[in-house]
Amino acid sequence: MTGAEIRRRFLAFFAAHDHVVLESAPLVPADDPSTLFNSAGMQPLQPYYQGLRQPPAPRLASAQKCLRTVDLENVGRTDRHHTFFEMMGNFTPTGAYFKERAIPLAWEFVTDPERGLGLPRDRIRVTVHPTDEEARALWMSETDIDPTWIYDNAENWWGLELGPCGPDSELWWDRGPEHGCGQPDCYPDHCERFLEFWNLVFPQFDRQPDGTLPPLPRP
Ligand SMILES: [Zn+2]
Repeated sequence: MTGAEIRRRFLAFFAAHDHVVLESAPLVPADDPSTLFNSAGMQPLQPYYQGLRQPPAPRLASAQKCLRTVDLENVGRTDRHHTFFEMMGNFTPTGAYFKERAIPLAWEFVTDPERGLGLPRDRIRVTVHPTDEEARALWMSETDIDPTWIYDNAENWWGLELGPCGPDSELWWDRGPEHGCGQPDCYPDHCERFLEFWNLVFPQFDRQPDGTLPPLPRP
């Protein structure tokens, strides 16, 4: 399957699930003086999350052109760093849905052979933040993933030092034991065996200067 076909299927899948598909914003942001390049699908949508602008629809999807200058030193040294890439994403800046919908939508897209990627279930692993029992429970109740393939990972936390933050949940592709450490108990994020290919971000807290985590009014 080509990159163009993956992009086409992703955007068509989310359009069929009531998402408005956005054009990629330019690689060089038009009105964000804080950065030289767009580096994530979320970035051009930040004003919607901050409530500064009204999003064109409650459910959005995009394939955003991205460049990460911090990655450049790794290009050619690893199997997974690029000078330029596109990040596909689905977004609900006003909280149209959260974990309860994001998790089954992601699972449907990666496993459905007709409208999604049709990846074999036994090659997919999932990680959740150890505190995020809600996400773990949703993976178990809303998808048919083998529960033993859901792993805790303390790295599954998204956010900066202040402001919106929260747990995230990642999907990993099992490249096969020959690509990793060879240990029978190998797990996602352990070595090169598992490749993270989707991060579901759940900003649900608003980190304060004193370190407390009151919930966001509208995750
Ligand atoms: Zn390993």
